[in-house]
Amino acid sequence: MGIVHLLPENLINQIAAGEVVERPASVVKELIENSIDAGATEIIVDIEDGGRKLIRVTDNGCGMSREDALLSLQRHATSKISTVNDLFNISTLGFRGEALPSIASVSRLKLTSVPKGSISGTSIQIDGGKEVEVKEFGGAVGTTIEVRDLFFNTPARLKFMKSTTTELSHITETITRMAISYPSIRFIYNHNGSPIYNLPSSKDLLSRVCGMIKEEGKNFIEVSFTGDSPDSTNNSPAFGSPSLLKRGLGGVGAAPIRISGYVSGPDINRPTQKSIYIFVNGRFVRDRVILHALMDACRTVMEKDRYPLAFLFLDVPPSDVDVNVHPAKSEVRFKKTDEIHRAVYAAILEALKGWTVRKGSGQWSAVGGQRNEFQTPDSNYQERVSEAIGRYAASNSSEPGGRSYPIPSPTLYPSGHKPLKGRELFPRLQGEGQGEGGVMGFFSSLTVLGRVGGTYIVCSTGNDLCLIDQHAAHERIAFERLKKMYGDSRPESQTLLIPEVVDLPQSEGMLIREHLEVLSRTGLEVEHFGGDTFIIKSVPTALSNKNIRGLVRDIADELAHAGRTKSIDELMERLFSRMACHSAVEGGDYMDPREIAALLRDLDSIDFSSNCPHGRPVFVMLDQIEIEKMFGRR
Ligand code: ADP
Ligand code: MG
Repeated sequence: MGIVHLLPENLINQIAAGEVVERPASVVKELIENSIDAGATEIIVDIEDGGRKLIRVTDNGCGMSREDALLSLQRHATSKISTVNDLFNISTLGFRGEALPSIASVSRLKLTSVPKGSISGTSIQIDGGKEVEVKEFGGAVGTTIEVRDLFFNTPARLKFMKSTTTELSHITETITRMAISYPSIRFIYNHNGSPIYNLPSSKDLLSRVCGMIKEEGKNFIEVSFTGDSPDSTNNSPAFGSPSLLKRGLGGVGAAPIRISGYVSGPDINRPTQKSIYIFVNGRFVRDRVILHALMDACRTVMEKDRYPLAFLFLDVPPSDVDVNVHPAKSEVRFKKTDEIHRAVYAAILEALKGWTVRKGSGQWSAVGGQRNEFQTPDSNYQERVSEAIGRYAASNSSEPGGRSYPIPSPTLYPSGHKPLKGRELFPRLQGEGQGEGGVMGFFSSLTVLGRVGGTYIVCSTGNDLCLIDQHAAHERIAFERLKKMYGDSRPESQTLLIPEVVDLPQSEGMLIREHLEVLSRTGLEVEHFGGDTFIIKSVPTALSNKNIRGLVRDIADELAHAGRTKSIDELMERLFSRMACHSAVEGGDYMDPREIAALLRDLDSIDFSSNCPHGRPVFVMLDQIEIEKMFGRR
């Protein structure tokens, strides 16, 4: 007799369980997926002891007949696909037909189900894969699956279970993802009888999300994009609706890629990627291509090593994505990876473009282009700026050729002036910052009251208070100058009296060498001296020459990270953002009244609707109403 033999069914299931059922959270995921596929509008999850003792998922979906219920526990039994073609056109969350038998083989599982249109159904008890009892059951339409004593018969797996807290946090994360993906489904989630989530059905993704992650809606901007390539951007709001009742198929004839969701404003960020949720056809996935594209686009507005909060939904024709890559279905493979990357990049950039500084509290929010509904009417900064310009135009019309700046008395400034190192940053003085017909720019028209914290310039419009971060302002101005200069192909550089010698690590040195030509177009003249040594001969005029070594190191770092970015313009934007950090005035540096006046004029020449290098606000406004509120007058 041979030694090769077929494995018993139950052992096969237990082996499959090794892949599908890693921990209690995987059971929760599979059961909720089944409920969603069954069309449930309400899902109740009860957990005891982090899922070791009990996992129970109850839904009001279509339910199963006795026959189907018995079959569903058999290996490779599914109602979701029938032919090989179906496998390449999957619109349900499940399709492998192995979750229920796998879970049943490593736990004590009870399935009770009442099919639609019936008042009675079936209850099936299975212990460690062995059918114990099948009986009639009366109740409401839907299905309940109770999983007790997970891994009771696989001691090796039991040993790998972590603490209740750890397992519970995995379960919570699983439910969070599901709840984000399906806002229209009501989710109730309890642990040891205490409620964790009670999420009412919601038409709107943002209110569902904010309820769970404890962030305010106004901190997010809507992403709404459709097209087969970034060139065919179409922001029709019909495509942006995140409240798709049933995700999955994008619909026959729909655009190949549809991206919707929300991304946080630049000052709401996190040190890890944990709050980035990416869904492909309703399925939560970890996908490096999408994540990379997202981060690439966010880089222009977000500090390095920080990550946005994001809820991104990609609707891709099911035939363009392979979901059968991983037993737990947490990875997908795209047919056209490049197209996905480009589309996500374009979608996020498009969304972020509409951001600018919002008055008060240093928050950012959307203006222009895509406005989100959480924006309060009085937060429209651009309108307020136009109004202010109008006011000042009227009050200054009798003073042709500009007016003198109300410079505060010197006593408002600390003594012991530190000379400004980056004076060359402001070569322009007279006549700038004034629009047509001598109308003064908004910033130039401010009355400077003084500085606080050595960094913030305190100004008044007459009614409102305006605080300007001097360092952020300089950075922003330098960024814009570099960009403009590059656009005009006229690098303005300053030759160093004594060239600076910089040694770079091999890999970074190689990158710098590859980009000498590009760098010279920014006004940064670098020469390779041999080996790891480089000589810096000149720097862009818009930058100070404080820390050239640091500047070059940062640029090398940026080049190393630029890897995937294709266009030179994108690369330049990143380089400028890095370079701008090395611009003149630091927070804490003294500025004299003339320098402040020059700074304000320079701010007037900036287009605030474009991206800012680091996402920090340059200024904040506190209006009269807010001030009055602070004093209890309103
Ligand atoms: P798959 O989801 O991959 O089809 P499962 O083992 O998870 O495989 O489920 C097997 C079948 O049982 C499903 O195809 C479905 O028909 C049925 N089923 C499972 N859970 C439910 C549920 N909650 N409501 C209705 N039908 C269900
Ligand atoms: Mg399933």
